[in-house]
Amino acid sequence: MLVDTHAHLSDPRLATDLDFWLQEARAAGVGYIVNVGADWESSRLVVQQAANRKELVAAVGVHPHEAKHWNTQMEADLIALAQHPKVRAYGEIGLDYYYDHSPRAIQKEVFAAQLRIAKELNLPVIVHDRDAHGDVLAVLEQHAPFKAGGVMHCYSGSPELVAHFLALGFYISFAGPITFRNAKKPALAALQVPAERLVVETDCPYLSPEPHRGKVNHPARVALVVQRLAELRGVNYETMAQQTTANAMRLFGLERGD
Ligand SMILES: [Zn+2]
Ligand SMILES: [Zn+2]
Repeated sequence: MLVDTHAHLSDPRLATDLDFWLQEARAAGVGYIVNVGADWESSRLVVQQAANRKELVAAVGVHPHEAKHWNTQMEADLIALAQHPKVRAYGEIGLDYYYDHSPRAIQKEVFAAQLRIAKELNLPVIVHDRDAHGDVLAVLEQHAPFKAGGVMHCYSGSPELVAHFLALGFYISFAGPITFRNAKKPALAALQVPAERLVVETDCPYLSPEPHRGKVNHPARVALVVQRLAELRGVNYETMAQQTTANAMRLFGLERGD
């Protein structure tokens, strides 16, 4: 069994045929999917989608792109939404200095505010970091320890930085880019992660792995990420699947055998 630890099933490209994509996922051996929010609207929708589907759990939070829309009403609404039993993580939150859709000072402020909320709710955090590695690490270190843990999603930092995130107790997640032919850095980073801290994701509908690069991604394709990680680390597919699944189940409190 596999776990896709990061999917955006609220995206209209997947939401309109959700049960079809879930059937595809099941056929590929995907037993659980963490359905991740990025703003208030998508957070509400991912919880709604997860409510009556046993293979889905949800994460709620505001993405750095949307940080400029953060306000106290949204904060109260997200805290209330996070009480739903299917909400197993807080995210995605973090910093994105590649697109800079929100001013950096506001991104940092909203990231910090949401780390405090996640800690209060005792939820693991799902962290987005694009071209902001130093600042992400600094903000996380200011808010440590994270008793419920966390994950660096779609890891794009250097191999050298992996140790710092591991020291915070975080898991490291890899997505489609690890299958891209020019992706030297994530491949090297993946070799720095001990087996018990490695998880996988699609970040669908984005980042479709090879040989489907550029197409709409969906949770079944997490199998291609597992395949690539197995090759890189010189273990067989089954071993990689078992390790990453056990890790995801531990981090998100998922139950086996239903
Ligand atoms: Zn992200
Ligand atoms: Zn995402």
